[in-house]
Amino acid sequence: MQKWHHIFHKSTGLSPYVWVIFYILPFYFIFRSSSADRWVYGIVMIIIFFACYVLSFKSKGWLVYFWTVGQMVVSITMTLLFGYMYFALFLAFFIGNIQKRAAFFTLYPIHLLTTIVSINYELIMRNPVFLEQLPFVLVSIIAVVLLPVTTYNRNNQDRLQGQLEDANKRISELVIMEERQRISRDLHDTLGQRLSLIGLKSDLAGKLITKNPAQALVEINDVRSTARSALKEVREMITQMRGIRLEDELVRVRQLLQAAEIEYVLEGEPDLSHTSLITENVLSMCMKEAVTNVVKHSGASRCRIELESSRTELVVKVKDNGGGIGGSRLYSKGHGLLGMRERLEFVNGSMEVIQDEGTTVVIKVPNASQQPDMEVNAQ
Ligand code: ATP
Ligand code: MG
Repeated sequence: MQKWHHIFHKSTGLSPYVWVIFYILPFYFIFRSSSADRWVYGIVMIIIFFACYVLSFKSKGWLVYFWTVGQMVVSITMTLLFGYMYFALFLAFFIGNIQKRAAFFTLYPIHLLTTIVSINYELIMRNPVFLEQLPFVLVSIIAVVLLPVTTYNRNNQDRLQGQLEDANKRISELVIMEERQRISRDLHDTLGQRLSLIGLKSDLAGKLITKNPAQALVEINDVRSTARSALKEVREMITQMRGIRLEDELVRVRQLLQAAEIEYVLEGEPDLSHTSLITENVLSMCMKEAVTNVVKHSGASRCRIELESSRTELVVKVKDNGGGIGGSRLYSKGHGLLGMRERLEFVNGSMEVIQDEGTTVVIKVPNASQQPDMEVNAQ
């Protein structure tokens, strides 16, 4: 929990020890003056100031304005009576910590104006105490101008950062939930159906075994083949769930191109340190589809894969020297390119198909240093 005295120095960028000087300094200015009644007067004002200061932090609504105006009055009086203007720094810090836009933009100019007017008055009156500390006064004016703005901006930034982190956490949760739903759907559609078929066929075989053993044998054979195909589907599902790594996919792509007798050229090294797992999965799937298309449609003799990583994005180019691609037919024929585009949109990536000496498919995905590492294979 935040201790009450932390409000004096928390998030000012200054060490608490520096603030101690500002707590002691007003007393020094008061005790410089000779008369005892001025001492009492000054001490009362300091107490009022710090009371208002604490109360303004603790209050809500119009009371904030009330206590802040109280501080301003004390600050101006201290400047005029004792040549002490450093309460303005406390105020500047407090105003910077106000989160309400309207309150900040009301109190900031008022504080700026009152401080500058009282300082100018002191300068005109040629108060010797004030003139002695002129360099410090100038530094304080700069602080009064800048401190509220920087503190206000930093607080806003912290708040936005917090919101962003929450949103990212929420996205990760949603992705995991979506993945769980997909797995349960897949399980239902594969294992569920197969197992009920096995159950039905076993019942039937049980009934037929005395009446018609030959038919029962056929049913048992069906049960066996259904069980085998279910096992195969489960294995495929598990392979998909593990996620595809780009490195593994590059090996498979090479094998595919070799089998199709297409020369394979790889250029560049992927830097995947800033790429989330889900983005890498999508990238791998898109590269696989692009290379499959080269094998299926291009009639090319060479396929070149270029990998480029920059700070902000990862680019994979799949180039072939085949017959080229017909622009208008592009998305009408099959599902491959359309699926690629949809998957890439999901991770904020993009795809471009260029017609050059053959066809070049350019796949771009953003580097996800700001995105959460979505746990697609966290099952
Ligand atoms: P699917 O991918 O659904 O099995 P598909 O490969 O025909 O079917 P897409 O991958 O969307 O579908 O490709 C659309 C069409 O674009 C293809 O039918 C083909 O005519 C053309 N095409 C795609 N890639 C190439 C390429 N590298 N060279 C020449 N034509 C291509
Ligand atoms: Mg295809």
